[in-house]
Order: sequence, then structure tokens, then C-alpha cells
Amino acid sequence: MEFNANIPEGPLDQKWTKHKTKIKLVNPANRRKYHVIIVGSGLAGGAAAASLAEMGYNVSCFCYQDSPRRAHSIAAQGGINASKNYQNDGDSTFRLFYDTVKGGDFRSREANVYRLAEVSGNIIDQCVAQGVPFAREYGGLLANRSFGGAQVSRTFYARGQTGQQLLLGAYQQLSRQIGLGQVKMYNRHEMLDVVLVDGHAKGIITRNLVDGKIERFAGDCVILATGGYGNAFFLSTNAQGCNVTAAFRAYRRGAGFANPCYTQIHPTCIPVHGDQQSKLTLMSESLRNDGRVWAPKDRETAKKIREGKMHPGDVPEDERDYYLERKYPSFGNLAPRDISSRAAKEACDDGRGIASTGLGVFLDFRDAIQRFGKDTIAERYGNLFDMYNRITGDDPYTTPMMIYPAVHYTMGGLWVDYNLESNLPGLFVAGEANFSDHGANRLGASALMQGLADGYFVLPYTVGNYLGTQGLAAAGKVTTDAPEFEQAESDVRAKIDKLLSIQGTESPRSFHKRLGDITWSKCGMARDKAGLEQAIVEIQALKKEFWENVKVVGDANEINQELERAGRVADFMDFGELMCRDALMREESCGGHFRVEHQYTEEDEIVQSGYLSPGEAKRHDDEFGFVGIWKFEGEDQVPSLHKEMLEYEEVKFATRSYK
Ligand SMILES: Cc1cc2nc3c(=O)[nH]c(=O)nc-3n(C[C@H](O)[C@H](O)[C@H](O)COP(=O)(O)OP(=O)(O)OC[C@H]3O[C@@H](n4cnc5c(N)ncnc54)[C@H](O)[C@@H]3O)c2cc1C
Repeated sequence: MEFNANIPEGPLDQKWTKHKTKIKLVNPANRRKYHVIIVGSGLAGGAAAASLAEMGYNVSCFCYQDSPRRAHSIAAQGGINASKNYQNDGDSTFRLFYDTVKGGDFRSREANVYRLAEVSGNIIDQCVAQGVPFAREYGGLLANRSFGGAQVSRTFYARGQTGQQLLLGAYQQLSRQIGLGQVKMYNRHEMLDVVLVDGHAKGIITRNLVDGKIERFAGDCVILATGGYGNAFFLSTNAQGCNVTAAFRAYRRGAGFANPCYTQIHPTCIPVHGDQQSKLTLMSESLRNDGRVWAPKDRETAKKIREGKMHPGDVPEDERDYYLERKYPSFGNLAPRDISSRAAKEACDDGRGIASTGLGVFLDFRDAIQRFGKDTIAERYGNLFDMYNRITGDDPYTTPMMIYPAVHYTMGGLWVDYNLESNLPGLFVAGEANFSDHGANRLGASALMQGLADGYFVLPYTVGNYLGTQGLAAAGKVTTDAPEFEQAESDVRAKIDKLLSIQGTESPRSFHKRLGDITWSKCGMARDKAGLEQAIVEIQALKKEFWENVKVVGDANEINQELERAGRVADFMDFGELMCRDALMREESCGGHFRVEHQYTEEDEIVQSGYLSPGEAKRHDDEFGFVGIWKFEGEDQVPSLHKEMLEYEEVKFATRSYK
């Protein structure tokens, strides 16, 4: 079977333990005979590189930034989940597992999620041992806070800089291995193709971003840890450089792309303020621990605020709609991200939005400041408040923050089996680049957990299994002289030459923005059949225009950020079409995928019973309880759809309610 998830036999809570005792090992003395290529040095790639090198493998690690410390992981603010139950509030491995499956709207693979919950505590121990300065209680124990979609406090954090501190921990272990000569680090190298030899991933082609040199690298296997594709929407909370190129080029070589339409929209971002903006800023979900989300009850009041005729602080209490507390009393302001985002959109669609565009709601700290005092709030969120103040000019201690949902994370990614190996043998995928654990929606603080679980605790076993299965005779056998490298290199050169030869009139950035207008409006927070069909036609036309009229200035043999961008935008366009196809195929609503045709209405019994409110996402488990996997079928051909059916043993499909 092409897409066999290879889930081990046995009870859920013993699968990983048993699997580890059964899979092949590589003897320590033999590990130095193998060479592992890792693309990406964020949390997933950095952790994998440090761990595999520590085990004795030779590792080459690549990133396009000038240092692994600049990987996008550094932007993560709020925290990382683990079921340590330090708060004694009833947490457990099972509860974290259950919350994650439910949070993902029952579209993730049960066995992977259980393993994630199982190793979550080890991640915290590992990071503490590295010296990551997690926040602590007065008595010295690690502190926790709450994040959306959970009724326990299980999120470990380092102020609003958790990703940065975790990345520094991984980076210091990576640096140690670089110093020991066990990892060779290639900064400013962009992977532009993966090379398959006899169907196995055995190398990559890169472009040196400083001098433009195209290079070949051969290894015994390849790990992609290249992050997410949120910038397919142009505006997102992702760093400008985040892209889909590595994953998409692997897809073009035959790797399955799973659930590309599952995008997370984060409810608490600073609203868009003009059409020249190129980046959105996240306000961490941790703020919802103390901030209360509201919109004016009355459209007139909202209008006055928009026009600057009324200060939000002057809106009387009984004229404020704390809509999350009203609609979801059990979870309140900590309702999951997909649900909170849609609720904000509903308020704005109803004409009650604030901000100059009408696309904003409030996140208000007035009550928390009254209860705990300004100093405590500053201690908890000071750097986030400062950041907000610098961007908007408003002081969130006295004026409620304005927030609106924005693209933040991508749950889709390259398909992987239980071993995190794609359908191309020897090609492993980790972190946000794979599709594995979050289903249709990611709960807050679980991306860092997944990236580090993959890098520190899963790949060190499963990569060994692949290499051990190949046998020692295969080690180092493939070299860059192989004809497959010749072919891949010439394909890469041809694409670069083509981009530089067009010399049209429109910049790559302009095409990117136009693509984002299509993907956000037709495949964003809400989608429908007609819009998606239209989006596919529009993207195809835009693509044609791009290849006839893009203008890439500069040369191939120098630093050329326009050329880098053009290559990434070209991939985003092909990918954007794939994303829309996936969204069109999925005739249901789930998590971050909301098809307006599929929502609960007053007619549904479950709404009449009071269990759900009208407007909630309506899944169709019988027809769509699967992972949608797309396979490339050739240039301008419609890709083929394959399915991995999702079978739940411990958790039963259930209608999500956070009431
Ligand atoms: C603003 C923000 C805040 C967040 N806060 C949280 C949070 O509080 N908690 C949480 O759990 N999650 C959070 N997330 C999500 C989380 O940060 C990311 O999902 C996670 O860090 C991704 O890690 P990664 O290692 O998979 O990828 P990244 O950190 O994005 O690393 C990707 C790596 O791949 C390299 N790369 C990519 N393409 C190529 C190529 N073609 N060639 C060579 N190298 C390449 C890059 O150079 C980089 O080294 C947040 C995300 C954002 C945007």
C-alpha cells in the first residue's frame, strides 16, 4: 500500500514503547558510517540534528537564514504543552491526548497524538536540563498557564518568548555538535530539490544564497523540517521567509501532500491597517488567560468607536457583548482558536466590528488589572503589551487591545507514517512541515511540543530503523555523481534561468499579494463551492501571467532576494491551487476548514437540544473521516487524491461542544 500509516499493533498506550523495542537499531560504532541530511534548523530540525549527531551520525544541516537562531520558531510566544500535572488539576497523558484529538476536530491520527502526549513531559525535562528558563512559581516549581481548548493548566512558558528560549536551548546543543565536527552547518543555503535514487531520498540540491552557487549533497537519508506554508495567504503571522518550496518540490518528486486546506486562523492578531502591509503580528493566546474578548452589542456604538467619537473604555458594561463567555461558558475566553476566530468574524459580519476597517474586536485587561494590579499583569505579559504599544500607539493598560483573526499555522503538510517517514522511503518530515498530529485545528502551545517531540524523541529512533533496514552495505553508497543528481541540478538551473529570462513588468511581491487576495478571500476563514471553483480558475490565470510577466531583477550569481522570492511565489501559486482543490473536495466543515454550506442550523436537533449553537462547524465523519493525500501527476495535470482512513479506538467521533 502506498500510504500505509504503519501504526504498530497493540493497545494505544503501549504502541510506542513496544515499537521502540522492535524497530531496528544501528550499533553505535556503525552510526558514524551514515550521513543524515537535515533541511531546517528550527525547533524540529535543530533538535533532530543535535540528537542524531549526539548519537554519532554524521549530520549536514541546512537553513536559508544566516543562523539557525533566526528560524521562525524564535517567534513563538505563548508556551509549550506537557501533561506534567504540576497544577494537580487532573491532567494526564490521556487528557492531553484527548484534548488534542478533540481540538483537531477528529481529523488526526490517534496513535501519533497519543505518542505526542506521552513524550510531552520528557520534552520539558530535556529543555530544563539544557537550561531553558521556564517561568517558575514562588516555591521553585515550573509554572503553568492555560491555553485554549483545555480545562487544565498545562502550558509551560518563558514570559512571551517561549520559542526563543527553546530555540536557544536546541541551538546550543546543535552548536556543541558543530564544534565537535559531528554536524556540518550550511547557513544561507536554500534547498531547491530533493534527489531520489532508486525511489529513495538520497540527497538534495541547494542554492548558496550568498554567491548563487548550485550545489549537490548526497546522504543516506533526508529529513525535511522546513516549517509551514502560511505565507500562501501573503499576509500571516509568519516570518517573511517562511515558504512551501522544500515541501512542494518533494511533492513534485512524488511525496504525498496531506490536508493542504487545513490552515489555522489565530483569533488574536493585530488587525490589518492598510493595503501596503506585508506582515501581521500575533498577540499570544496566553493573553486570553486574563483578557476578556468583547464587541459592542450595538452597531451604532461600534460605528462611534470606529470613527474615533467614543473611547472603548466608556462603553458601559451592559452594552458589551462578551461573546465567547456568552456562547461557550465552560471555556469562555479560552475557547479553541477555530471557534474563537469564527465568533469574531460573526460579530464583525454583524456590523459590530471595531478598528478602522470594522474588522476587529476587543481584548480587554481592565478587569484583570483591577483584580491583580498593573504590576502583575506587566510581569505576565509586559513584552507583549510593549510590542502592541509600539505597533499601534495604544497603551493596552488603559485602552483595550484590538484583535482580529489571521493566518497563523498550517496543519497540513507532507504526509508521514507513524515513523515520520513520507511515502518516499528515506524522506522523513518533522515539525510544522508534516501533517501529523493536529488534524483540522491546532490547539495553542502544541506546535512547539510536536516539533520538539519529532526532533528529540521520535526521529532518533525511526531514522535508525530506516538506516538499519537498508543495511551497512548501503551506507555512503550514493554519491553526487549519480545521474539523478545531474538531472535534478539541471532542473533547478532551468527554473532559475527561466525566472530571470522573463523580464516582465510586475514584481514577485505583487504577484504574491494578488495570490494572497484570492486565497484569503476564497479559501480563508470561510469557503464555499462556488468561491473555491473560482479561486482555482483565478490562480491558474495568475500563474500564467506570472510566467509571462514577472520581473526578477539582478543576477543568479549573487545575493538576489528577488530571485529567492520569485521561486517561492511560483511554488506558492501551484500550492495555492492544490489548497483550493483540497478545500473543494472536503464537503464538510471541520476545525480550521469551514465550508459555509456545512454548518448547524436551528433545524438540527442537536441545536434544538441546546448542545450546540447554530453556525457551528458540521463534520461528515462517514464520508470524510480521512486524511486527504494529494499526489503530483505532472505539470498542469490534476493531482490524484488518496485517502488514509482514520480509525479511532480509544476516542469516538463526537460532535465538539465547548459550551
Ligand atoms: C508568531 C507565532 C507565534 C507562535 N507561538 C507559538 C506558541 O506559543 N506555542 C506553540 O506551540 N507554537 C507557536 N507557534 C507555532 C510554532 O512556532 C511553529 O509551528 C514552530 O516553531 C515551527 O517549527 P519548525 O521547526 O517546524 O519550523 P521553523 O522554525 O519555521 O523552521 C524552519 C527551518 O527550515 C528552514 N528552511 C525552510 N525552507 C528551507 C529551504 N527550502 N532550504 C533550506 N532551509 C529551509 C528554515 O531556514 C528554518 O531553519 C507560533 C507561530 C507564530 C507564527
